Amino acid sequence: MKAKDTLPELFEVEYLAEQYRDILHVEKLAEVNGARFQFPVYGFSLGNQDPKAPVFGLFGGVHGLERIGTHVLLSFLKTLLFRMSWETEWQEFFKHCRLVTIPIINPLGMALTRRGNGNNVDLMRNSPLNATGKLIPLVSGQTYTNLLPWYRGDLSHPEKETLAVQEFCRKHFFQSQRVITLDLHSGFGLRDRLWYPWSTSSTPFPLEPEVLKLKRLLEQTYPYHVYTVEHQSLNYSNHGDLWDWIYQDYASQNPNGKFLPLTLEMGSWLWVKKNPWQFFSWQGLFNPVKKHRYARTMRRHNHLLELLLKASLHHETWSV
Ligand SMILES: [Zn+2]
Repeated sequence: MKAKDTLPELFEVEYLAEQYRDILHVEKLAEVNGARFQFPVYGFSLGNQDPKAPVFGLFGGVHGLERIGTHVLLSFLKTLLFRMSWETEWQEFFKHCRLVTIPIINPLGMALTRRGNGNNVDLMRNSPLNATGKLIPLVSGQTYTNLLPWYRGDLSHPEKETLAVQEFCRKHFFQSQRVITLDLHSGFGLRDRLWYPWSTSSTPFPLEPEVLKLKRLLEQTYPYHVYTVEHQSLNYSNHGDLWDWIYQDYASQNPNGKFLPLTLEMGSWLWVKKNPWQFFSWQGLFNPVKKHRYARTMRRHNHLLELLLKASLHHETWSV
């Protein structure tokens, strides 16, 4: 099977890079190979390249099975890039802030239809942080074998993809005082959840007051929004969380900076509940299968993504 058939998302990423080469800064962050495939990991940035500018980051495809996160991200990005070609307000907007994104963090896992990467390491369990709190055996991360899911890998040598995300974030976030990121996942629960740190501990997140102000902004802007906003460890804790690790790295370099790493966990159990046949396919457990449900999911999160993008730039006005 050709790479194009097994990972059409990557061709969409490359198509966007080519089509919008005048405004998108494209970085090849890593190259991953295995199982007869070789794929690049791309990072994009758009807008003000001053390292001190406010930043909004979008990340997808950490877990290869959860393709829908990458689809939602690319759909939003495509709309935004197109709007920039005719709405001068957006051109003006991006003079003041930067959008950065890695649409497919784990291309090999996505091509192989698996959660882990080419070494079957769970990239959301791969940082050296150990968790406390509500730990679920195996699911919270295990170091026994890569034959089972949730494998943490060699903690003294994080995977290429993990290091690529860390490097990209260091470059784009560390000098900025205002950063909001959203990492898109699917596969947990009946509702769409917006999680904030920590995942590795149930102790309060130092910027929780900021997160609660952002939550209020969301509620006042969209009173009928669909999200449950909560501390991630309320559901479960996991070892090696990538965003807890990157946040700690950022805070050690930039103690006065405000970095809010959020995770969108799309409630895929609802798709399965409404269409129980999905239960019998790996893809179906993590992605909407019915056409109308897929289309609804693609529309559903645009308001949230746009709000977070604007909240990154106008941080001072809502966080007082
Ligand atoms: Zn996930």
